[in-house]
Amino acid sequence: MNSSLGKGPAVADRNGVIAFYDERVLAHEPDANVSFLPGRMDKRIREVLAGLSGPWKYPEHPGRLTAVRKLLEAEPVPGVEFEAGAAATREQLGRVHIQLYLDDIFELRGRNAWLDMDTTAVSPGSVDAAEVAAGTAVAAAEAVVQGRCESAFALVRPPGHHAEPTRARGFCLFNNVAVAATHAQAVLGCKRVLILDWDAHHGNGTQSLFWSDPDVLFFDIHRASPFYPGSGRMEDIGAGAGEGTIVNVPVPAGAGDQAYLKAFRELLVPAADWFRPDLVLVSAGFDPHWQDLALNVSYECFSAMTGILQSVARRHCGGKLVFVLEGGYNLDSLSRGVRSVLEVLAGAEPPEPGICGVAEVEAAVAYHREAFVPPEARDS
Ligand SMILES: [Zn+2]
Repeated sequence: MNSSLGKGPAVADRNGVIAFYDERVLAHEPDANVSFLPGRMDKRIREVLAGLSGPWKYPEHPGRLTAVRKLLEAEPVPGVEFEAGAAATREQLGRVHIQLYLDDIFELRGRNAWLDMDTTAVSPGSVDAAEVAAGTAVAAAEAVVQGRCESAFALVRPPGHHAEPTRARGFCLFNNVAVAATHAQAVLGCKRVLILDWDAHHGNGTQSLFWSDPDVLFFDIHRASPFYPGSGRMEDIGAGAGEGTIVNVPVPAGAGDQAYLKAFRELLVPAADWFRPDLVLVSAGFDPHWQDLALNVSYECFSAMTGILQSVARRHCGGKLVFVLEGGYNLDSLSRGVRSVLEVLAGAEPPEPGICGVAEVEAAVAYHREAFVPPEARDS
């Protein structure tokens, strides 16, 4: 234990981790089979859904989070404590979203409605859930900055990084990671915030909010356009005072561990060392995992990326590192991905990923090769 007598605020235990999990976020449960507020969007989305070959289920469902919780109960990570979250205040949300948008969203409390043609929708409990998702990201940032733990993971939904200041998109209502970042700047004394987004999809909402903000470095590695949402070109670097503080690394379908770790080691690390963050936030989606089919990232790579972020945070800001859950739709890779991050946060040494498939081929060579060696060349 660190002794903090006479040395100002207590220093967090190295490797102390809090996972924030709040059941209230499970109340967001859009169901395309119930009737929605009528209107042009409902009509158009119904036409799209009717054209699909099979029945459509809302992919961003409560089972995503309960799968994570179940795995962490069955296979707990030593050193990780659970805590409930909190609902975001209107003031906290208002640092990210315009008042008109917040008015529109709050009017939908208790109702079913489509918010966007990309099938973003609300159910009666969604607005409450979205407030808790954003507020829980804030609670995680507070726990880390106030020194209650070294790092934290806000296990929340609906996700946030597609939500723009003026609109909901891509299953996202409020931009959770941006609400946490602006709260850390406005209230917690963090001047410079690094946001790393490794979700498979580009974080268009986060980028748009911080487009001209020199105090937020937004680094996003994602599958390139035309993959959803289509934004995040390499040449998009921010503007005005924030020119150069947006860093996009678009990668092709199937890119995997080697590409991700190269981007981290050769670009993220020097960018972070140049920026010197007071806090590191991560938009952590687990849809780059190969089981989600868009990219080819392994659990070992999630661990290795976490290890790199942890050392960046330790070098610049006493290890202050906060993960906020974004996408990830295969329940297996979502829950195992979260667990592999938590293990590293809690002190495990991240493994170095091999090249995909090589270990399996080596095993097959060892298994079969002997059969094809001529008898006279065998050892015995
Ligand atoms: Zn995603």
